[in-house]
Amino acid sequence: MDKEQIAPHVKDITRALGNKVSEADVERELNSYLTVYRVPLGTAKRSIVKKHGGNPSLLSLGVQKTIIDLTPNEFSVDLLARVVSVNEREIEVEGVTKTILYGIFGDSTATVPFTAWEADAMDVEKGDVVKIQNAYTKEFRGEVQLNLGNRTSVEKESRDALPPYEPPERPPTSVELGNLRGGMSSVSVVGRIVSIESREVDVEGQKKTVFSGLIGDSTGKAQFSAWADFELKENDVVKIDGGYSKTWRGIPQLGFDNRANVEILTDADFPSAEDIMKPSRMWIEEIAERGGAVDATIRGILIDVKEGSGLIFRCPECNRVLRKGTCRIHGEVDGTPDLRVKAVIDDGSAALTAILGKEITEGLLEKSLEDCMDGAKEAMSHEVIRDELADLLVAQPVELRGNVTSDDYGLMMISESAEVLEIDVHEEAQKLLSDLEE
Ligand SMILES: [Zn+2]
Repeated sequence: MDKEQIAPHVKDITRALGNKVSEADVERELNSYLTVYRVPLGTAKRSIVKKHGGNPSLLSLGVQKTIIDLTPNEFSVDLLARVVSVNEREIEVEGVTKTILYGIFGDSTATVPFTAWEADAMDVEKGDVVKIQNAYTKEFRGEVQLNLGNRTSVEKESRDALPPYEPPERPPTSVELGNLRGGMSSVSVVGRIVSIESREVDVEGQKKTVFSGLIGDSTGKAQFSAWADFELKENDVVKIDGGYSKTWRGIPQLGFDNRANVEILTDADFPSAEDIMKPSRMWIEEIAERGGAVDATIRGILIDVKEGSGLIFRCPECNRVLRKGTCRIHGEVDGTPDLRVKAVIDDGSAALTAILGKEITEGLLEKSLEDCMDGAKEAMSHEVIRDELADLLVAQPVELRGNVTSDDYGLMMISESAEVLEIDVHEEAQKLLSDLEE
């Protein structure tokens, strides 16, 4: 894209951000996303708006999606795509037999599996180009899936409205694992396999073995999935040419299959698995820029213990948190008690929501779930536990470690550990900043 082509998009982003960021800054950033990281235009625009705290849905220009842009749990997706395959299937819904369609859509960037729940509304065959409006995405086995429901419209377009699908061929770009972003294709990475395991998955009715685990370098770590057996072992240092990345709940993941070139290196200088797994301290702003992180450590002030913290009850069927003894899906049920903290952490650069599960919450309270049940019974209110947590935690400096995912509601850390610190975080942040300025 040249300057002229990029200009309207820079304006669109600046406008979506309420003109709070200069066009020059936006242009520089957009250029780097597009040319250095090779992120698709739509993804780049949304990431930049999100990064500056704006709302990506305010973007208006040229963000008809391409398939490689799709992420799980999008509610209103418009696509122009070619039907790569389409099949019928009968399913039973509440005792009534119904026909649905499933198959694959493709465009020049990628392919995506789809399910159309209203088969009558869609009269298409293999090779057709269709304009889809108001579809939605879900995640299925770590992959994005497109769903066409009763609000979705499908119109046939001329077959030459789209070029035939060809996977993009270009030389791989070297990327450090800490800089991996969703939606990159043809990347080259060097990393150490920290863990690996195999499992069988069902891909369009065929059994396949996928090898997945954690890979890392000195800049970060990422989950990976290898769709072919490269005989990788724990601790191997590997060079992968021709991988790609997808996001899973905002966390970029590395994928590669038998089109990739995988080579095992003997590089004695490469960081050990132990070094890679050491806690990596990150600023929340940095995590937001990356769109999520695997195994990040943050330090900040816990500024709020949100509603839904403390003693909660879950639906025994679906594990959702009950509101007034009622599950959104299963109605009034006999809830299973649980403990958690849903907190807001601010580290001076940005804020995120953190979820602390039962074991961590018990540790912070120095009380078991049973003790909390007794306390709540005595006080005749479940809220006492949340109050106790708020007294204990609000305004305290904390260190949390875990995976951070992101969606339209912002960043969320599922904490694996949490600790109240004895240090002055403000002072520390000041010190870090002045070190940087020196
Ligand atoms: Zn339920």
